Amino acid sequence: MSKEITFILEPDSGKLTAEVSGISSDALAELRDSLGISQSVNCGKPLQRNFVEAPMSPDFNSDDNQFIWLYRVYHNSVVDGPGRRSVVQVSGCSIRCPGCYVPDTHDRHNGKLVSVSSVVREVLSRSAEHDGVTILGGEPFDQAGPVAELVSILNRFNQQILVYSGNTLGTLIARHDPCVDYILTHIDLLIDGPFEQFHHAKTGEYLGSANQKLYELKTG
Ligand code: SF4
Repeated sequence: MSKEITFILEPDSGKLTAEVSGISSDALAELRDSLGISQSVNCGKPLQRNFVEAPMSPDFNSDDNQFIWLYRVYHNSVVDGPGRRSVVQVSGCSIRCPGCYVPDTHDRHNGKLVSVSSVVREVLSRSAEHDGVTILGGEPFDQAGPVAELVSILNRFNQQILVYSGNTLGTLIARHDPCVDYILTHIDLLIDGPFEQFHHAKTGEYLGSANQKLYELKTG
């Protein structure tokens, strides 16, 4: 097995993630000592789920009139959900949690308005490399219509989907919005709740603050 250490620096939060493979436990302990306070995150190895592999040029019927405010798409994240993930980060957030570490995403105009189909193409072009897709923000449920469309198409390609929301699950259900309900019934995982800066320490995996909860919504 080859020995490898990859460092990933997140410019938004200043977090440094080290991915290691094939190194001895002594070397790992030395690395931990050198980096200071650290926290183990999930393993980024493929989860070996039975994906329907997406074709290189996915052919799907999508309403090209559906547009979404997008901040960015990035790949190979091992901190935004289980396994290795492609991440769709939308722009625009009406919640504005104090201490939010992605304030640049609050104004939707810091992103750009793009077609949902172009986002799908970008995500599916890397489907052989990832275990799932995470949709975060910003606040995805501020754009429930386009996000529902995105979820609908990704489901056709058997992508495991996790959505982060600054709203609680109860608040979302109470909206009685068909697009919100569609998302909640067609995604695998939801992490809900606003970021609370005074509950930032000792969070579970993938959570920004201890009040947030991870729900498994789709079991079939
Ligand atoms: S919901 Fe998310 S993006 Fe919006 S303010 Fe809270 S932490 Fe920031």
